[in-house]
Amino acid sequence: MKVLIVGGGGREHALAWKCAQEARVTRVYVAPGNAGTAREPKIENVDIAADNIEALAEFARDAGIGLTIVGPEGPLVAGIVDRFAASGLRCFGPTRAAARLEGSKAYAKDFLQRHRIPTASYRTFTQANFDPEYLRVQRLPLVIKADGLAAGKGVIICETHESAIAASRSMLAGEFGSAGDSIVVEEFLAGEEVSFIVIAHDRQVLALATSQDHKRRDDGDHGPNTGGMGAYSPAPLVAPDVHARIMAEVIEPTLRGLAADGIAYTGFLYAGLMIGADCTPNVLEFNCRFGDPETQPIMMRLQSDLTALCEAALDGRLDRCTAAWDSRAALGVVMAAGGYPESYRKGERISGLEAAARLPGKVFHAGTLLEGSDVVTNGGRVLCAVGLGVDVRSAQRQAYDLVGAIHWNLVQYRRDIGYRAIERESQG
Ligand code: AMP
Repeated sequence: MKVLIVGGGGREHALAWKCAQEARVTRVYVAPGNAGTAREPKIENVDIAADNIEALAEFARDAGIGLTIVGPEGPLVAGIVDRFAASGLRCFGPTRAAARLEGSKAYAKDFLQRHRIPTASYRTFTQANFDPEYLRVQRLPLVIKADGLAAGKGVIICETHESAIAASRSMLAGEFGSAGDSIVVEEFLAGEEVSFIVIAHDRQVLALATSQDHKRRDDGDHGPNTGGMGAYSPAPLVAPDVHARIMAEVIEPTLRGLAADGIAYTGFLYAGLMIGADCTPNVLEFNCRFGDPETQPIMMRLQSDLTALCEAALDGRLDRCTAAWDSRAALGVVMAAGGYPESYRKGERISGLEAAARLPGKVFHAGTLLEGSDVVTNGGRVLCAVGLGVDVRSAQRQAYDLVGAIHWNLVQYRRDIGYRAIERESQG
């Protein structure tokens, strides 16, 4: 079988790498891919952008692709699955209607409230009905969110009423384009975040390994929000009782609610959760795809064939599936361009990849490009170095050994990925 992976980041490198290990998979195409996917055995890049749905469908038909897996949210929200289905092509992910769970935060909040799934209290505003007085009487901090997709930048946590009102006004005035035509003003939730990712098909569900990521740029979870500076799996915070609560209070009611609303959801479903002191799993957001960088450590642990799980979901056989996992922990450290998440340089030559390839663990590429025989930086998040170990601490050591072997001008990365989990481990 030939597989097409749509996207070109670290998540897509990990998905492609995983699929390429399967004996029945003859070839994996990645559109557009990166320098990492260009150099993997059995994997080939295709020069089509992830949002060029027509060209992707044409390629899938002409190349005889048996299964397409979509990495990023953009094409899903734009309806890639509907388009592929119209041509009889198997494409794993939610339809356009189902992807609204990620594509519109206002829709997702209304959905959560209507189906009594725990989430922060909120109100939705447009330019026409914006009411600064409502914001002025809310408890601080306040969370302001652009309704639509804003490349992970559309959430602002405000410490004062004035800054919350200013952030709302600038979103409504078009700071994030039409993504800010509506905004969600939301109560701030304290706690610890976890990423809970499942494969879903209607009411059938298979929970994947748990994970946690670090969204802030700097050590100690300080500095600006980013797409993610590192992640690890499993998340020790999600003990069996917490896992059971997440399934019963979030995942199952979500799938019931979607079915009740007449929406068939097939694909990865990612619930970003804030676990409070009482262990209530509050939903911060839904994503309609796998997380980045969570995919990288999770794929390192998945022993079952990923394409078989995707196909079982597409065929409605997910309820008869289990997934096998490496019992070891996996931890990924994102190596980013200096200046990320603000402005950064591209085109810096990366050294040490060959030395890193001789070490245990795996370096997944994200924003990289092949220039002749050189690999150069081509994005904010450039690489994700993943280590495995008997526990998070030893996985962390292996990951930082990889990081230590690699260098480019102005590289930046956090030195403490996994620190909360390691603290938990040392407390026994
Ligand atoms: P989202 O895209 O909605 O997940 O928001 C991005 C990040 O903002 C989350 O990963 C959290 O770190 C933070 N965040 C979002 N909503 C809240 C909230 N209600 N309370 C606290 N932090 C939040």
